[in-house]
Amino acid sequence: MPYAITQTCCTDASCVAACPVNCIHPTPDEPDFGTTDMLYVDPRTCIDCGACADACPVDAVHPVDALTGAAADYAAINADFYADRPSSKATEPPVFHSWGPPDFDRVIPAGFPALDVAVVGTGPAGMYAVQDLLLHTNARVTLIDRLREPGGLVRFGVAPDHPSTKRIGEAFARHHAHHRLRMRLGVQVGRDTGVEQLAAAHDAVIYAVGASEPRALGVPGEELPASIAATTVVGWYNGHPEVAPAAVDLCAERVVVVGTGNVALDVARILTADPADLAGTAIAGPALEALRNSAVREVVLLGRRGPQDAAYTRPELLALAHLHGVELVVDDSDPRTGEAIDAAAPGEHAALLQGVRREVLDRSAPPPDGPRRLVLRFHSAPVAITGPDRVSGVRVSGRDGEREIAAGLVVRAVGHRGTPLPGLPFDDVTGTVPNAGGRVAGMPGTYVVGWIKRGSTGGIGANRSCAAETLRALVDDAVAGHLRARPRRRIPLPLRARARRAPVAR
Ligand SMILES: Cc1cc2nc3c(=O)[nH]c(=O)nc-3n(C[C@H](O)[C@H](O)[C@H](O)COP(=O)(O)OP(=O)(O)OC[C@H]3O[C@@H](n4cnc5c(N)ncnc54)[C@H](O)[C@@H]3O)c2cc1C
Ligand code: SF4
Ligand code: SF4
Repeated sequence: MPYAITQTCCTDASCVAACPVNCIHPTPDEPDFGTTDMLYVDPRTCIDCGACADACPVDAVHPVDALTGAAADYAAINADFYADRPSSKATEPPVFHSWGPPDFDRVIPAGFPALDVAVVGTGPAGMYAVQDLLLHTNARVTLIDRLREPGGLVRFGVAPDHPSTKRIGEAFARHHAHHRLRMRLGVQVGRDTGVEQLAAAHDAVIYAVGASEPRALGVPGEELPASIAATTVVGWYNGHPEVAPAAVDLCAERVVVVGTGNVALDVARILTADPADLAGTAIAGPALEALRNSAVREVVLLGRRGPQDAAYTRPELLALAHLHGVELVVDDSDPRTGEAIDAAAPGEHAALLQGVRREVLDRSAPPPDGPRRLVLRFHSAPVAITGPDRVSGVRVSGRDGEREIAAGLVVRAVGHRGTPLPGLPFDDVTGTVPNAGGRVAGMPGTYVVGWIKRGSTGGIGANRSCAAETLRALVDDAVAGHLRARPRRRIPLPLRARARRAPVAR
């Protein structure tokens, strides 16, 4: 019985290297790796050895006969990926493991003095960089984060009903105790220490500070009370220390979420979930209590374009379709939506909605009685958030002009951007630090990785190859003698007075 990859796959490709018969694709060197929602096991070639399941950090791989409920669909989803591809067994030689000495392509030559490297940010990008530094070099690492709890978006972004995905945080956390790593939490670069001070105290500094600022919609009414960014909702249900426990008011029956990306789907899913299903998860206590008393009966997700262009990934949409006690509906107001869904060929994005019930949303009436609903409304670009002194609706433009959707809460989920860090260059258009393969332009010994390097796209696993590229640049620079020459002793982290009082983890 073959294995299959399921919803929580974050495409970090750990399983690819573990598979002895090369039956997991696309691999990082195949062209569709950069765009795939997940990886797939070829059931024709899989020899049922289970090595991939052992390697997977998010428990995404299971034997097909162990898949139940919504996960059962993934047997066919894995097989479908290979429907028109030749069997890898027929085209590729088997993978034989080498039993010689380990051979890494990012390695510091023997005898090279130990580098002191600071990594700023404990999210996935920072932790993949730390992992590479500890495994492939003899560097001593100082790991810094502005928050007192590490993990970045794995801790404060990933939704609490995705416990397998959150478990990747445990894999990262095992590096925190490494003897060549010292950790400084509660230290914010730009406030408690500076870019120049870090550069003076280290051979190299890697910034993995993410992209935490919500993108603005740029429409009137955006600042009204009850118009909030998805970052607020996500921080609220994850217990972020900078988001108030009462930051999200659930007294409205209809919520509009602007956006169709995975974060929009996370928010919609949590706001409509049965609180009993969330009770055993890592959800913050005040958020769970608020959901128990919530008036929300309908969440409308607004997409600017059609279902063929929706930003969500296939696994996340499939999870919505299987939500217990929640009905998924497609708003049929614009005929282009139904036409695109009906015309979609199997495997195309819009085809995911074939079989989902369609109806014309009654925009001004309260949501109908019955189970809670998630309504996908496409071809609806928001032009204003309306209301006299707090949100009462969203005006959208479509083929037939402008229409208003009544709603008491609007969540803006249209992406994230980085914020400038004093002392580092910043591209205000992309919201990233300008770089070439991770090297910060004009600042030898300074590197970036993750969302601050490439923008706010890609799941957790995408940061692994991103970190590998940055580390390759750092090691090449070290070996070529391009890093700043420093006395060979580890010096204390230069901190301003208040940060010296922050607890030192190690
Ligand atoms: C809401 C949400 C849910 C997601 N869910 C999933 C999912 O289920 N599966 C998946 O595969 N991907 C998911 N992703 C994507 C994934 O989280 C990102 O790919 C990943 O977190 C980006 O990693 P990063 O390290 O660049 O940034 P982050 O994870 O944001 O880490 C940045 C770190 O830098 C620290 N920092 C920032 N500024 C400073 C400073 N000045 N000084 C010191 N420290 C600083 C921050 O505190 C933070 O810890 C989600 C993203 C979001 C926004
Ligand atoms: S079970 Fe073994 S053969 Fe099958 S995909 Fe996993 S690692 Fe490859
Ligand atoms: S998360 Fe990584 S290891 Fe797990 S199935 Fe996906 S690519 Fe493979």
